[in-house]
Amino acid sequence: MRDPRYDILFEPIAIGPRTLPNRFFQTAHCLGAGSDKPGFQAHFRAMKAQGGWGCVSTEYCAISPESDDLPLVSARIWDDGDVANLGLLCDLLHEQGALAAVELYHGGPNAAALESRVPARGASQIPSTFGFMRSCREMDLDDIREVQQQYVDAALRARAAGFDVITIYCAHTTALPHQFLLPFYNKRTDQYGGSFENRARFTRELVTQVREAVGDELAISVRFGIHTVANNGAQGIRYDDEGHRFIEHMDDLVDLWDIVSEDLENVGPSRFVPENFEQRYNVGVKQHTDKPVINVGRFTNPDTMVSVIASGQADVIGAARPSIADPFLPQKIREGRVDEIRECIGCNVCISRWAIGGPPLICTQNATAGEEYRRGWHPERFERARNADNDVLVIGAGPAGLECATVLGKRGMRTVHLLDAASEAGGCIRTIATLPGLGEWARVSHYRTIQVDKLRNVELILRARLDAEAVLDYGAEIVVVATGAVWAGDGMSGLRHDTIPGADDALDHVLTPDQVFAGKPVGERVVVYDTDGYFMGVGMAQRLAREGRRVTYVSAFDTAAPYTAFTLEQGGINAQLRADGIAVVTGHFVEAIAPGGVMLRDRFEEAAREHAADSVVLVTQRRSDDALYRELKARPEALAEAGISGLYQIGDCVLPQLIADVVFSGHRLAREIDSANPAVALPYVRERAVVGASAAPAALSAR
Ligand code: ADP
Ligand code: SF4
Repeated sequence: MRDPRYDILFEPIAIGPRTLPNRFFQTAHCLGAGSDKPGFQAHFRAMKAQGGWGCVSTEYCAISPESDDLPLVSARIWDDGDVANLGLLCDLLHEQGALAAVELYHGGPNAAALESRVPARGASQIPSTFGFMRSCREMDLDDIREVQQQYVDAALRARAAGFDVITIYCAHTTALPHQFLLPFYNKRTDQYGGSFENRARFTRELVTQVREAVGDELAISVRFGIHTVANNGAQGIRYDDEGHRFIEHMDDLVDLWDIVSEDLENVGPSRFVPENFEQRYNVGVKQHTDKPVINVGRFTNPDTMVSVIASGQADVIGAARPSIADPFLPQKIREGRVDEIRECIGCNVCISRWAIGGPPLICTQNATAGEEYRRGWHPERFERARNADNDVLVIGAGPAGLECATVLGKRGMRTVHLLDAASEAGGCIRTIATLPGLGEWARVSHYRTIQVDKLRNVELILRARLDAEAVLDYGAEIVVVATGAVWAGDGMSGLRHDTIPGADDALDHVLTPDQVFAGKPVGERVVVYDTDGYFMGVGMAQRLAREGRRVTYVSAFDTAAPYTAFTLEQGGINAQLRADGIAVVTGHFVEAIAPGGVMLRDRFEEAAREHAADSVVLVTQRRSDDALYRELKARPEALAEAGISGLYQIGDCVLPQLIADVVFSGHRLAREIDSANPAVALPYVRERAVVGASAAPAALSAR
C-alpha cells in the first residue's frame, strides 16, 4: 500500500497538449545505443516505462550529420532509417503507458564529426574545448537559417517516429543554442551577439519555427543550463541573472522547463554532492515561469521528491541515474515497497562507459542495465531455476556473493547459504565506503543485505571461514566461491609487469590498502604509489592526509586517478588533493623502496631521485583470492564424493574488476545457474547488420 504522503508524486500534470501521467520523468541520458542499436535503445528505456516513469527521453539526439559525435554515442534523427529505429522506442514506451521524449542536439564545434566529416558551424570561430582538432565556421545569416531548418526537419521526423515531447537541448555548453547564449562561445557583433536579447535570438527563433512546424500536437520542452559560472568564469551565465531572464524571455514558447546547472556538479558524483544538489540553482525558478519545471539531482528518496514538489522548487522529478539503478523506482514507491528501491550510489560508472565511447552502459547497482534486450534480463522478474531442488553454498558476502545469493534466492533454489568470515556482510564495500566521499557506496551492500533478509530460502551466516574440507563437508550440491581479491604487497603492476625492489608488505614501512584499513601503523611522512588509477590511490592519500599525515601521492600516469576522468570526478578530486595539502607527483615510477624513503623516476628520464618517507602505501594492483577455488577444483573426485555437481567462482575471485562488473558476475551466474554450463556466459544478441538474420526477443516482449 502506498503511503498517502507520496500521492503528490502520482498526480498527472499537463505539459502543453500532452499529459504526463505522474511526476517521474527520465531525463535524457546516454547509454551507448543511439539509433543504431534500436533493440537496446527501446527495451532499455521501455523497462523504465514499465517501472512507472511517466515520460522517458532519448539521450542527446543529433539533428544532422554536422553533429555526429562518434566515438561518443548519441542518438541520431537524420533520416527515415533513424525514424524507424527510434519509432520502435516510441511504440514500446506507448505500450507501457509512458510519453516519449527526444532531445534534439546540435553541438557546434563540440561534436567531433569524425565519421561524417561535415564541417561544423558555430556562433563564433573558436575551436572545440575537447581537444580533438575540431573548429567551426562562424555562422552567417544563411547558416543560421539552415541550421534552424535542420531543427525543424528533425522535429518533423521526431513527430513521424511517434515522440510526444520535443526537447530543445540548450545546456551543458555543448549544445549550440546554449553556445549562442554564452559569451564564452558567442563573440558576435551582429544581431545574434552582444546583448542578452541578441544572444537569445537564435534559440527564440528556432523554438518558434519548431512550434510552427509540429503544430499544437506535441509538447516542447527546453533543457536549459541555468548556471555556468564555475566552468566559464565571467563569460558564463548566472542562474539569478540571465538564467531567470532567459526563462522569462522564452516562456511563451515553452511547455516544460528541464533545468540543469552547468558546473562540475551536473551529473554530480556522490563523492562531492548529496541528493538534490542543484537545489541552490533551482530555487526561485518557478517564479519566472508559468510552465511546469523539471529538476534533477540524483533523487532516490521519495521524501526528498515530495519536498521538492511541495516546496515549489519544481513540479516534476527528473532522473537519469536513479532510473538506471532502479527502473522500477516509481512503482516501488506506488506500491509501498520503498525498502526495495535500489538506490543509485552516484559513482558515475554508467557515464564512464559512454565517456570511453562505444560500449553499452553498465551500472554498479543494477546488473541488468543494458542487458534487457541482448540478454533478455528483467530487473524484477526471475524464473524458477530448472535445478532449483539444489542447495547452494556461496562463500564470500562481498558484492558478488550478495548479488549471486539474492538472485539464486529469487530463482527459488531450495536453500542458499551465504557465508563470510567477517562479522558483517559487504566484503570490499565495508572498507571502500569509509574512504572520503564514498559513504553512499555502502548502498551496494545495504540494499542486497536487506533483500537477502527478505528471502526465506537465503541465509546469511557470518564469522564463518571455510577451508576446502569444510566446503566438502557442507552438504551443498552447488558451490560458488566469491572470496574476492587482495592488494598486492610486492609492487607488481600493469605498468611495469614487475615487482618493485624493496616492496614487501611484511615490512613495517610497506603497506597495502588492506593493511591500512586493518590498522597497521602508518608513519608521519607517507608516499601513496598509485598505478591502479581509480579511486583507491587518491582515497588512501586523502584518508591519510585527513588523519594528519604528510602525504605525497605518486602516480605513474599523467594525471591523478585517470579513470575518474570518465566518471566526471577527476577535476574535483584534483582540487581536493590540493586542498588536503597532498603533494601530487604524476608521471613518476617508484623504482625502489627502502626504510626511510623511495626512489622516484620521471617516466621520461633515466635518473632517479630520493624521496624521504616513513611509510609507502602500494596501490599497484589487486590479486584474486582464488586459492580455495583452485584447491577445490583440483580435487574432482572429492567433489564428486561430496555430491558437489557444480563449482563456480565469481567476482574479484575470478579477476579483480570494477564493482559493477563484480555484481554483474554474481548476477550472471545466478541467472544462468541452470544452463548447460553455468561457468560460461550464454551468448547475447548482437545488434548488427547480418544478411538474412533477425534479432531475438527480449524481456519485455517475453510476457
Ligand atoms: P567481491 O568483490 O568479488 O564480492 P570481496 O572482496 O568484496 O569480493 O568479498 C569477498 C568476501 O569473501 C570477504 O568479505 C571475505 O571476508 C570473504 N572470504 C574470503 N575467503 C573466505 C573464506 N575462505 N570463507 C569465508 N569467507 C571468505
Ligand atoms: Fe548510479 Fe553508479 Fe549505477 Fe550510474 S553506475 S546509475 S551512478 S549506481
